[in-house]
Amino acid sequence: MTEPHLQDPRELYYRHEFPDQDQAAPALQSEMNPQPDCGETSYEGHDRLLNRRVLITGADSGIGRAVAIAFAREGADVAIQYLPGEETDVNMVATLIKEAGRKCVLLSHDLRDEAAPEEMVAKAVEELGGLDTLVLNAAQQIAHKDIADLSMHQVKDTFMVNIISMFAIVKAAEPHLPAGGAILTTSSIQGFNPSPQLLDYATTKAAIANFTINLSQQFIKRGIRVNGVAPGPIWTPIQLAGGQPQDAIPKFGQNALLGRAGQPVELAPVYVFLASNEASYVTGQIYGVTGGESIN
Ligand code: NAD
Ligand code: MG
Repeated sequence: MTEPHLQDPRELYYRHEFPDQDQAAPALQSEMNPQPDCGETSYEGHDRLLNRRVLITGADSGIGRAVAIAFAREGADVAIQYLPGEETDVNMVATLIKEAGRKCVLLSHDLRDEAAPEEMVAKAVEELGGLDTLVLNAAQQIAHKDIADLSMHQVKDTFMVNIISMFAIVKAAEPHLPAGGAILTTSSIQGFNPSPQLLDYATTKAAIANFTINLSQQFIKRGIRVNGVAPGPIWTPIQLAGGQPQDAIPKFGQNALLGRAGQPVELAPVYVFLASNEASYVTGQIYGVTGGESIN
């Protein structure tokens, strides 16, 4: 007998092999087949983040887009950073945020640029009229099978975008963050169980988890909680501009216990919870949303 209020998680969303595809960087969500589900038509808010002022990095697509849509529908005004070249994707998000009746500030910045963190925080504070919540989510992921093929140029860029920018954004934002605010980071299953072809990326994701746990000790002294999310295989553009070896795309996510890739919308409720007042006793934690693989 089927119970309409129950959903078998194995049978939700896209469960087939993905069509073979790749893209030039920056990969765009608008060119993906099938389209990731970021909650565009499904996420319903319940004022959990009413009047919050949030900066989200990498929010044009994928997990960041799902978080931006959810946060706006939960009542937050959002500033979203994206990479130049991602205008098609970011305009889609901006439309949805405005349809939710919230303010949307667009910040076009490359996090390889040392000046970007201070500039984007200053603009977010000015246009939102303050800042209480950070979602540090942008990252680059470029696979190489062997360290011999991994350039030091790429290693430095990966560290700059994925982790060094987090230090700089938090430093720029901290004078503005009030008690009751929150900092969220996006780590990865790769930080705990790394794949050999993602040596530089996985190292930064472990660093992000450590940074998150450690930073929570400083920030709780001013009433701000700091938590991270560690996703498993999620169908987003990051996989398609070299994020995976090309031959891994069709079966992407099928090794998860759930037997399928996750969709960005399946991450959004965890970010909403961790940012919200409902998570008042939660800080210094990394939440796995991995499709079953343990991060412990
Ligand atoms: P995504 O490609 O949709 O988002 C990543 C975003 O990072 C891009 O949209 C871009 O705006 C931003 N970015 C990349 N390089 C940048 C640069 N040089 N300067 C500024 N911004 C830059 O992919 P996603 O999967 O939603 O990624 C979001 C986060 O989730 C990342 O931190 C990623 O590591 C993490 N994550 C993803 C998966 C997955 O399977 N998709 C798994 C674990 C963790
Ligand atoms: Mg993008």
